[in-house]
Amino acid sequence: MADKKEKKSNPKNAWLKYSAAKLKEVMAFTDEYKDFISDNKTERECTSAVIKRAESFGYKDFYSVKSLKAGDKVYFNIMGKALALFLIGEKPLEEGMKILGAHIDSPRLDLKQNPLYEDSEIALLDTHYYGGVKKYQWVATPMAIHGIVVKKDGTAITVTIGEKESDPVVGISDLLIHLAQDQLQKKGATVVEGEDLNVTFGSMPLKDEDKDAVKANVLAILKKKYDFEEDDFASAELEIVPAGRARGYGLDNSMIIGYGQDDRVCAYTSAKALFEMTSIDRTAVCLLVDKEEIGSVGATGMHSRFFENAVAEVLDKLGQYSELHVRRALANSVMLSSDVSAAFDPNYPSVFEKKNSAFFGRGLCFNKYTGSRGKSGSNDASPEFYAKIRAALDKNKVTYQTAELGKVDAGGGGTIAYIMGNYAMNVIDSGVAVQNMHAPWEVTSRADVYEAYKGYVAFLKEM
Ligand code: MN
Ligand code: MN
Repeated sequence: MADKKEKKSNPKNAWLKYSAAKLKEVMAFTDEYKDFISDNKTERECTSAVIKRAESFGYKDFYSVKSLKAGDKVYFNIMGKALALFLIGEKPLEEGMKILGAHIDSPRLDLKQNPLYEDSEIALLDTHYYGGVKKYQWVATPMAIHGIVVKKDGTAITVTIGEKESDPVVGISDLLIHLAQDQLQKKGATVVEGEDLNVTFGSMPLKDEDKDAVKANVLAILKKKYDFEEDDFASAELEIVPAGRARGYGLDNSMIIGYGQDDRVCAYTSAKALFEMTSIDRTAVCLLVDKEEIGSVGATGMHSRFFENAVAEVLDKLGQYSELHVRRALANSVMLSSDVSAAFDPNYPSVFEKKNSAFFGRGLCFNKYTGSRGKSGSNDASPEFYAKIRAALDKNKVTYQTAELGKVDAGGGGTIAYIMGNYAMNVIDSGVAVQNMHAPWEVTSRADVYEAYKGYVAFLKEM
């Protein structure tokens, strides 16, 4: 057993180790994170915000540079919805990269391509939910609209409705309790149904309009404010997300409540860790991807070849390209696939197994494996690899913990880890524990957010 002194210098709960000055730093760091998730609620917004920060640290668009050498910083912007940042290392790329990966898409409600209609003098927008949501959580709460509309001439119009204090918000109605006798007999999964998640968009009719005058009025407002027509909804990506900013949570302000922390909490801290590095032995990469919540599919998801292509392009500009070098660079890489984990919830203890649960305040969380029903679908990390990470974290006094997502057969989940594992590289799931995962407002511990950042820095330095 560890003696008392050792326990004091390396407590399980990160809060206990912070000095007054450190505590200030933790609060300031996480306040900045709070602003990031408040200002960036879509994968597109996250991509442009991270690129903006990257540029301030000297990162350049890969296609704007002619050749690469150690110390150079470049990024690939994948269709504005995902990105890969590279800090070129001293060693040949075939010796592998140190990759910090996370996803920047979050559960939400997407507008359908033909969304707008009027019913009973109310204008509504039809949606199709994105990712795994408990639908009943998304009604009777203020929502905002974020996204772009692309017109036939190629003009992209950025839309943000419902974030400024002076902006109106939108929302989805819920049935009053007084008339909900039948509804409340239904199962939770169907108490609010997917096809009924229709956004209330307006109620004021346009004068001298005979048919669908309320719809005509909102279309007139859209034309005037944003200069697009009803048909243009067809080529738009408009997302309905919770309106308003993230907040400190708890009387002690030790937590953060905000939308989209799955997985922007890992994306933000991973990017911050990379920006901390100015030179490195093996090339460092921060990979922020889209579509994780719907299976990592499509051109901007982790199953896409974009990262493999990017590695080939980097090798080419380093003058090191060959097919074999691409394969070696990937296989010799090490990666923290960071995604949120379930924080132990005293309100629902029955779905957790306490020895193997993540707790608020206990720092960066590692999941050797994820999956469900007998680890199905999991990337099961090698103990040899995790042992090295433990050494790196201990050396840098990072607080960390290990966990499984809930107890055996309670459910489960997946991440991008197994996809990168397909390249035969060492990957482990890590991340920050979250309460209310996939609800409109998710909760994290500020200490865990900070320790995650410190852990990612340690990974880049030591591995
Ligand atoms: Mn996630
Ligand atoms: Mn998720």
